[in-house]
Amino acid sequence: MSTDTHLAGLSGTIVHDEIVPARAPWLYHVAKGQTLRIVDLEGNQAVDFLLYSAADDAERYSAQDTVAAQGNLFLRAGTTLLSNEGRPMMTIAASAVDYHDTIGGACSCESNTLRYGHHTKWQHACVENFLEANLWEGRGKRDIVSNINFFMNVPVEADGALGIVDGISAPGLTVDLKAEMDVVVVVSNCPQINNPCNAFNPTPVRMIVAA
Ligand SMILES: [Zn+2]
Repeated sequence: MSTDTHLAGLSGTIVHDEIVPARAPWLYHVAKGQTLRIVDLEGNQAVDFLLYSAADDAERYSAQDTVAAQGNLFLRAGTTLLSNEGRPMMTIAASAVDYHDTIGGACSCESNTLRYGHHTKWQHACVENFLEANLWEGRGKRDIVSNINFFMNVPVEADGALGIVDGISAPGLTVDLKAEMDVVVVVSNCPQINNPCNAFNPTPVRMIVAA
């Protein structure tokens, strides 16, 4: 019997299990039919997330298509993540957190200086993580599109105003993503320390792939 609570409810054989350190990039190929579980180990850690088709990386996650198709801004259990060609890439099979964000974007050195002052220019940011991970497979700046922020809380007010507020995640909470095609997952374990998206304290996350 496994006493690893992070594996609870995950069926199949574990084919990959890795801790992504705080502030680090991550890239992994998830085959059609496999499930990627992301574990928010210490709670309130934003996991910035991009998806490409493994067969042709010109096909990639589209926030617009996903939001329009489901008629809702939030990503929840049951959401199908669609590509720019309208095809299902992954499905959120289960989520211990009520909803995830796909409109808040990814932090960058440039946006940090604009929002938080020039003294933050040296700080590592999600765009740099995306660039680093994508470079391993020959992708560049033009391949970075609107992303998903798992475990990040971006509420939308009645007047349409957005907030980046304290997270609704907690230690050990998970989200399960079932691949509907062979995909390349690119992640930035968000290094942001200037707003509450990581509770001002970036922490590790765990990536488990089951086949
Ligand atoms: Zn970030």
